[in-house]
Parts: sequence; C-alpha cells; structure tokens
Amino acid sequence: MFMAILCSAGAWVFHSADDAPGRENIRGRAHGAAGGNGEGCRVRFAGVSVLVLGLARSGASVARLLHGLGARVTVSDARPEEELGEQVGVLRRLGVRTEFGGHPAELLDGVRLVVKNPGIPYDRPIIQAALAREIPVVTEVEVAGAVARAPIMGITGSNGKTTTTSLVAEMFRLAGMPALAVGNIGTPLSDSALSAGEDTWLVTELSSFQLQGTVDFHPRIAALLNIYPAHLDYHGTMDDYMAAKMKIFANQTAQDVAVVNADQPGAWQAADLRAQVWRVSLKGAVERGVYVDGPALVQRGGQDDSGKPIAALDDIALPGRHNLENAAMASALALAAGVAPGAVAEALATFRGVEHRTEYVRTVDGVRFFNDSKATNPTAAIQALTSFGDPLVVILGGLERGDDLGTLAAALAGRVRAVVAIGESAPRMEAAARAAGVAQVARAATLEEAVTLARAAAQSGDVVLLSPAAASWDMFSSYEERGRIFKQAVHML
Ligand code: ADP
Repeated sequence: MFMAILCSAGAWVFHSADDAPGRENIRGRAHGAAGGNGEGCRVRFAGVSVLVLGLARSGASVARLLHGLGARVTVSDARPEEELGEQVGVLRRLGVRTEFGGHPAELLDGVRLVVKNPGIPYDRPIIQAALAREIPVVTEVEVAGAVARAPIMGITGSNGKTTTTSLVAEMFRLAGMPALAVGNIGTPLSDSALSAGEDTWLVTELSSFQLQGTVDFHPRIAALLNIYPAHLDYHGTMDDYMAAKMKIFANQTAQDVAVVNADQPGAWQAADLRAQVWRVSLKGAVERGVYVDGPALVQRGGQDDSGKPIAALDDIALPGRHNLENAAMASALALAAGVAPGAVAEALATFRGVEHRTEYVRTVDGVRFFNDSKATNPTAAIQALTSFGDPLVVILGGLERGDDLGTLAAALAGRVRAVVAIGESAPRMEAAARAAGVAQVARAATLEEAVTLARAAAQSGDVVLLSPAAASWDMFSSYEERGRIFKQAVHML
C-alpha cells in the first residue's frame, strides 16, 4: 500500500510500505541562483496512483509528466469526451486511464494524490470527498515544481502578470541567458519540468487559483505585482484571495528574493517574508529594489548604495502608468536573477507588449484602434482607459459578474466621447456610462456591430478601445477569440 506522508522538511512525499521511503535527499544540492526547487526531499511518483481532475492544457501536461515519472494516472473531466479533442487519444495511447462526463467518487479509490485544474472550486463534491479521505489535493504547478531542476521565478498579481512575465523573458533573451516563459501564460510549467536544465530559468506566471493548490512550491525569485478585488466569485473573500497570492512566498528562504510593491504595502507588509525583500515603487525611493526617481527608473542595492539609473522613463516602450509598474517589476526580477543592466534597458526600450493587452491594431481616418480584450475586470479596463490622453470611444461589456462599476464610471467621466455596450452586462455598463455623463451611449448585438458603431462615433484623433471590463464567456470562448474578432472587424473597416 502506498502512503502519502510529510517528510521532515515539510514536503509531501510518497512511499511504498514494502519499498524504502521514496525520497531522495537533495539538501546538499546547490540552491540559490541555479538550484532545485524542492527543499530537503524529492518527491517520487513511481507506482503512485494519481487522479488528475480537468483535462485542460495543464491537466493533459501534468498527466503526461506523471505518467513519464511512473505514476498510475487517471484523468477525469466533467465534460463529455466529444468536447475534449485529440488530447484524449494521446493520453489513452500512453496508457493513462480516462473517465469523462463526471467525476464519480469511486475514482478516488486507491488514489494517493489529486491534481485538480486550478479553475475547479474546492466545494465540488469530488474535491470535498478527496479532502475527507485526507488525500492531498494540489494543482499542476506543485507537481511540476517538485520535480523541476531548473530554478523557478514566480510572478503573480491581479493584473500585469502576462506582460511582466513576457518582459522578463525578453530581458533574459537579450542577455543571452536561457529562460522560458511558462505557467498561466500558456505553456504549462509541467511541459518544461523535466526538460529544462539547471541553467534555465522557468519564468512562471501564476494565478491565485494555481497558488492556492500549492504546498511546497518554491520559487527562487517571486513577485507579487499588485492586488485588486478580483475572482471573488471563486475565493469568496478578499482575505482568501490575498492568502492564495501570498503562498508564492511561503517556502522561500534567506537565499531567495521576494519582490513586492511598496506602493501597495497592505498586501504583504504583515507577512513573514524570509527571503531578501526587493521593493518596487513608482512613488518614492526604496532601500533595496527598483523605483522611479524623477525622469528615470533606478535600481538600489541597499542602504549604502545611492542608486544606479536603469532607463529613462521616456525610453520605456510600453504605454501607461500600469505598464511602468510592470516595467519596474520586470527590471527588479531580472536584475535579481543576474541579468545584465544593459539587457534590461534594451528590453525596456524595445518590448511593445503582448497581444490583447492594449494592443495597437490600426489607424483608420485618424482614429487609432486598440485591442485590450484581456481587460476582463473593471480594474484592468480602468488602467487602459487612464493610460490614453486622447478622447476615447470604448467598447464595454461581457459576462455579468455583478462587479461594482462605480470606479469604472469615474474613470469614464471626462475622457470618453462614446460608449458602445455589448454582452450580458450591457445594461449596467450603459447605466455606468450615463452616470459618468457620457453623451453617446449605444448598444450592439455583436462585436462587429460594436466596431461599426464605435467607428461612426469616433472623430479623427480619437482612440477606439476594446477594454470590456468583463470576461468574454457570455459571447466568446475566450478573451483571445474576442480580441481576434475585434481585430478582424477593425481590419474590415
Ligand atoms: P494578467 O496576466 O495579470 O491578466 P496582463 O499583463 O495580461 O495581466 O494585462 C491585462 C490587462 O490588465 C491589461 O490590458 C491592462 O489593461 C491591465 N494591466 C496590466 N498591467 C497592470 C498593472 N500593473 N496594474 C493594473 N492593471 C494592469
């Protein structure tokens, strides 16, 4: 019989009763800049029964990883097999057991570990049943982090994760240092867990959902970019959401670096951070970290350092104050990993952003069109709205989550010529626009119609911005699809 036990260093590990304990001591292995991510013991999965819940990209990836490590893997998804695509065949050919259309409780029989898709809430019966049987429930990054030899850099926050992760990866690339941008950004950490060597940094975007399911996950360098109310439908309370985000620092030691936002001390100040802390501020000098000083971004290494300029603010290619925060965070992360300041400055001067994040599309008759489909909550949309100086025509609306639209309305006031509302939340978006005194408010049945209406309302010199302040799932399969349809419609004008 296999048992899940806690090893002395606090890591979970599996061993067989008739086998020697399945852990390999790696305490002596170098860590720090290029060490492993486990502390004290390594997890062995050979022969262990694992249930993977949810066959999204990360579920398929971790199932392959675990199978390769010798685990007995079952994958279950609540959706019927027809909806799940070719991954099913790939996994079956490997010998992975599959169960679709639900998660019957018998799936837990003999199982020693559950790896759940980050989006599956903890109140689902199968998760509750696993916890009641004291089976550990983790997310894919926990498994990947436990076996990866490459050092992990973790990046989390409410907004700016993908931009910062991409920018850090670009800094590494320009410095000629091997690094991969992975995690929530698109390629699961599990894909690279075994293939990336000790000299490669795994620059990992992490959501609160992923972090909530971690136990020993240990990034050598970790950043909490910012915290705004988000995902309260999943987390229930702000405290629960913040606690999930703070898990990024939970296993760090004095050899590690924690990068925090000095302008938002509420999120981390009370925490017991054991890593060396680098602060980032747009408002004033910090003792160690990166901050804005007049016209420049400056790095300071401690009390005795008077600070060295990294780049002139005018030379940073990403637009908007929110992106200045991302630029400063990315600089701190890369510098902490030993990226040369010259490569940091070059990336800041040349990196223009990521698709669907305030992405420039085209200019038509003096009207510039931007795709910010990734703005899936009011905070993200406000950042985009307030980063333009020109009059705006904004396309707003999507999945109705009951968000408070008061601050969004305040951001619309005085900057927006017209609002075109789409989707489930269109009535409340229209009300917010009217409350903000926006003169022209229209409703569109489709995004294509919204683009036509926005074009008609805009004048030369204006910006038309798709920044919906809402998720896309009422009308689209993803924010990426919404952004692509927007761009197609703009190119058809
Ligand atoms: P995430 O990966 O955290 O969702 P992205 O980098 O994809 O963040 O950016 C999504 C949207 O969030 C952007 O289009 C922008 O409107 C907004 N945003 C980006 N960075 C920040 C920031 N540092 N603070 C607040 N909002 C931001």
